[in-house]
Amino acid sequence: MAEIERFCRFNLEEKESWGRLMNKETMRLLRGNPLDGFEEEEAVVSLANVRLLPPASPSKIVAIGLNYRDHAEEVKLKLPEEPLIFLKPSTAVIAPGEPIVIPSMSQRVDYEGELGVVIGKRAKDVSKDDAGAFIAGYVCFNDVTARDLQYKDKQWTRAKSFDTFAPLGPFLVRGVDPSDLALTTKLNGKVMQSTRTSQLIFPVKTLVAFISRVMTLLPGDVIATGTTSGIGPMQPGDEVTVTIEEIGSLTNPVMRAER
Ligand code: MG
Repeated sequence: MAEIERFCRFNLEEKESWGRLMNKETMRLLRGNPLDGFEEEEAVVSLANVRLLPPASPSKIVAIGLNYRDHAEEVKLKLPEEPLIFLKPSTAVIAPGEPIVIPSMSQRVDYEGELGVVIGKRAKDVSKDDAGAFIAGYVCFNDVTARDLQYKDKQWTRAKSFDTFAPLGPFLVRGVDPSDLALTTKLNGKVMQSTRTSQLIFPVKTLVAFISRVMTLLPGDVIATGTTSGIGPMQPGDEVTVTIEEIGSLTNPVMRAER
């Protein structure tokens, strides 16, 4: 079993930097980054002294609909025979701690706690057996959704694509086995979703292989693997946290759009 490594991205003296966590409080500064390769610097930085950036800069986010049986049941939809994929734009990405903004167009904006897969190298037509080599690591992901617009529009682009609708982080974690991790979503400290990634209908490597037969995955691209039951709305002033065992906790406040 590979060693579990946690990386974070942040601004340090106006410069974007990466660090590798040494423990819960401190990290070692990197020259380079976890996708292209790096060397560790001598410098040690305290997590408390930096503002985290999203630990991936996707060209696209490929998200999966209905990948947990209990969620398909709660929304009364039939299980797909193949992974059901949709896109979220890169412009929806926000960092840990950054507010999710409820747009004035929607009356119901939901959280969806998900395991996020970050692609490490260009992937086209890869096999399930080879898929692991194309994965840079894992993140917590919140597939924020304007539920009313999702039903109204029939297709999902508007509902899934508002700015701030793709919080991800806090760390990019590699060396972790994603096949059976506990995942919870809390709203204001109360557990709303709770599952294990072993419940995914289409597991991580199957998703990477399947999507790579449709579109080329680029380094930094994120696959949001789907949500479990317990979806529900967020209100301005709420705080939402997606926690995945070994991977971390992603917390974002919720606010209303100013116009
Ligand atoms: Mg989702």
